[in-house]
Amino acid sequence: MSQTKKPVIFCDFDGTITETDNIVAIMQHFKPEGWEDIVKQIVSQEISVKDGVGRMFELLPVSRKQEIIDFAIRNAKIRSGFAEFVDYCSSHDIELFITSGGIDFFIYPLLEPYPIPEDHIYCNGSDFFGETIRIVWPHPCDDECDNDCGMCKTKIIRSFSKETHYRILIGDSITDFAGAKLVDLIFARSHLKEQCELEGKPYIAYEDFYTVVEHLERTAKELQ
Ligand SMILES: [Mg+2]
Ligand SMILES: [Zn+2]
Repeated sequence: MSQTKKPVIFCDFDGTITETDNIVAIMQHFKPEGWEDIVKQIVSQEISVKDGVGRMFELLPVSRKQEIIDFAIRNAKIRSGFAEFVDYCSSHDIELFITSGGIDFFIYPLLEPYPIPEDHIYCNGSDFFGETIRIVWPHPCDDECDNDCGMCKTKIIRSFSKETHYRILIGDSITDFAGAKLVDLIFARSHLKEQCELEGKPYIAYEDFYTVVEHLERTAKELQ
């Protein structure tokens, strides 16, 4: 971390803060007919992540709203060291943003125990007023991104200038890679780690947030 640039962290949610992907867990549990075909279309890039996620939730009736919310919250496991990581950021004046392609109805309750201001949490929204669940997209791509992200992580990262900020990304999947290419420091696990390897992008491997804190401490010391 540079002494002149202000550190800012962009942290993914599903598979990063939680041990597994919550959208996949919901679909695997409630098994709405047709969800697996939609996943195949997302993976083969026939449709965007945004379209795919929207279409999967449209398969679920709003009558099961509470059941779905309860399942998602009960099922999710927070990766170890996360509480310590949040504390480390706030006591070291490191701005922490949660940048997630996940959905508000599980993200806000799961992050509730941690002192993260709501305006530092970026995710997609949900509308339970129709027959089936409708996902809403308050943070769409801008002119500089044509990925049809749903929640555009690069737009948020780009809003912090690299001239003034030391930008750090923590993630786990291919959808984190576009953002990873922009930042100064990458913490990667799972598919994001493989993608960084493949493209020769330096990264720090993590499987818990204690590793992230240790590395942040070491980097801060080196630059003193
Ligand atoms: Mg993820
Ligand atoms: Zn985008």
